Amino acid sequence: MAQVNRVVVIGAGPVGLCLSLALAQQDIPVSLIEALGEDNFLEQVPRAGTNHPATLELFDRIGLYERLEPRGIIAPLFHYRERDGNRLIAEFDHARLKDDTRFPYVLQCERIKIVEEALALARAHPLIDLRLSTTFVSFTQGADGVTATVTNPEGETETLTGAYLVSAEGARSIVRKELGIEFEGFTYADRTLNIEVAYDFRRHGYTERNYISDPEEWSNLFHWKGPPDRWRVHFPTAPEEDEEGLRRPEALQARLQRFLPTGAAYDIVGSNLYTVHQRVAQKFRGGRAILAGDAAHVNSPIGAMGMNSGVHDAFNLADKLAGILLGELGEDALDRYERQRRHVALQHTQAQTIRNKKLLAEKDPAVRARNHDELRRTAEDPKLARAFLLRSSLIESLREAERIA
Ligand SMILES: Cc1cc2nc3c(=O)[nH]c(=O)nc-3n(C[C@H](O)[C@H](O)[C@H](O)COP(=O)(O)OP(=O)(O)OC[C@H]3O[C@@H](n4cnc5c(N)ncnc54)[C@H](O)[C@@H]3O)c2cc1C
Repeated sequence: MAQVNRVVVIGAGPVGLCLSLALAQQDIPVSLIEALGEDNFLEQVPRAGTNHPATLELFDRIGLYERLEPRGIIAPLFHYRERDGNRLIAEFDHARLKDDTRFPYVLQCERIKIVEEALALARAHPLIDLRLSTTFVSFTQGADGVTATVTNPEGETETLTGAYLVSAEGARSIVRKELGIEFEGFTYADRTLNIEVAYDFRRHGYTERNYISDPEEWSNLFHWKGPPDRWRVHFPTAPEEDEEGLRRPEALQARLQRFLPTGAAYDIVGSNLYTVHQRVAQKFRGGRAILAGDAAHVNSPIGAMGMNSGVHDAFNLADKLAGILLGELGEDALDRYERQRRHVALQHTQAQTIRNKKLLAEKDPAVRARNHDELRRTAEDPKLARAFLLRSSLIESLREAERIA
């Protein structure tokens, strides 16, 4: 039934594209299925934008980094700040990781540019059969392979076969649901409002990435792209407020003026509201069907870990699948993929993003003062600062996963 060594990948998001490119680089043919087409692929809602050092190393492995750097912003610093009085609590500098990585900085480069560049690489690769405007519907599996049913651009039903199927479909993964795998966790009651602004916040002391603590309204502020400069501010919103009201131009303007009064109206470029989940699939695999990226885990974006850890899944899985299909590894390598990446999703990505939100939103003045003192002490001590950065940049998560048998 199956083509001996082909992998069927569902979803040309950052995870599906990196996985396909890393497999093809190791001589494994891939069928890459994407529901979006030429006409709407680049019209996706703005999402992830911060790429950590370990992710940049992986992008470099598939020739993607050199295409992204000219389109991104190199950002070695990030700040913890206090909203009251716009005070700096602590500054962390990725230069402290100069002996740990070739890329001691994050690259601010939005998801849409990553998928655009990776799609161009995938299109050019002879081993990747890229199927745009093709929607995955269901699958079956047997002892030696998988069959995926898709709707092709002509609206007809078609089947594709492979040795393995990877769901890189995002959080609503059909494969996860068909396998009956629980998506365990919770959803925050407060949704996050993202406002995009044409303004250079650096003139007020901010750096490219800022985590801003406040007992009433924490926020995140990121230099998103430029020139011309575009910044994004994230705010929590009350569960009972309706989207239309929250996104009214006057409401957005008032919120920004409360955050940082400038004496002039902000030039607001766009806004969106999103629901934040903390969920990890109970299993990352059902036989020959495997989950990666948002299909396997979703988390709050505070700390920029969702896309990054998904890309780390992709490379881990590509090496395991290539090893199996080239006869160098046994199928139990896929169990190790699950042990390694599920551990990271729970103990690093989820744990850190939950902690990050708590830290920014803490209401108790004594606890806030203690937290801020600790951040200050950590940033000032070279050893502690390096350890902190190894965790926040997910390098530690990769090292720890390597130690899992
Ligand atoms: C507002 C916001 C901000 C974020 N900021 C960050 C950040 O700064 N850093 C970070 O690391 N993460 C961030 N994230 C998370 C990040 O966007 C996701 O973790 C990342 O996009 C997941 O990649 P993925 O490839 O797994 O899935 P996706 O990016 O969701 O891609 C899935 C792909 O599969 C396709 N697809 C879905 N169903 C089908 C089907 N049935 N058939 C065919 N194709 C299908 C979709 O069209 C899509 O192209 C943010 C998320 C949000 C919502």
